[in-house]
Amino acid sequence: MDQLIIATANKKKFKEIKKILGKNTFRIKYLLDFKERPRIVESGRSFFENARIKAIKTSLFYDSLALGEDSGLQVLALGGRPGIFSSRFAGKTADDKKNIDKLLKELKGVAYPKRKARFFCCAVLAYKGKVVGKFEGSLQGFISFKTEGGSGFGYDPVFFVPELKKTLAQVPPKVKNRLSHRYKAISKFSKFLRNYLERVS
Ligand code: IMP
Repeated sequence: MDQLIIATANKKKFKEIKKILGKNTFRIKYLLDFKERPRIVESGRSFFENARIKAIKTSLFYDSLALGEDSGLQVLALGGRPGIFSSRFAGKTADDKKNIDKLLKELKGVAYPKRKARFFCCAVLAYKGKVVGKFEGSLQGFISFKTEGGSGFGYDPVFFVPELKKTLAQVPPKVKNRLSHRYKAISKFSKFLRNYLERVS
């Protein structure tokens, strides 16, 4: 097992995961490194189910170790929405800007305490179509009243982290990568992977 495929076509997400994983003895690739890609439909009803679908499909398609990752934003005042629909919040033609615009519109008139939110990340490792492990992480914050900062991706410009007194888009990647939901889940995965590879090789 000399490669790990991250089951995403999101370049920014892939870069974050790669940075968190650091130096490794195996090659880390993602879906855009390949001409042929599996058709992945995120039909799950939870972050775990979607991460599992991504991991299993990818591990079978490339006969490789694969990591599926599903993440999203859950906002208190919206009853946990957009949740697993975070990337498609603004509909079929959604992009980061449209999603943020919709979020700020839905939260119009909502006071700070109710703007409480969290990012959640679930990562699933699969090999030959079987789940090998599950890893989770979250980050608490608040949805700000306007966008601030140009770093990161997704909802970062409106995700205010009290301990930083900044949005995630206002801090350099290395600061985000020390506390994010993805960092917490992927760090757990990284520790697990080292042991797992020792056991199977
Ligand atoms: P996925 O690629 O299906 O897991 O969709 C995740 C979506 O959740 C992204 O497209 C973003 O909209 C949002 N999201 C997840 N993690 C982050 C993050 O670290 N920063 C900002 N937005 C995020």
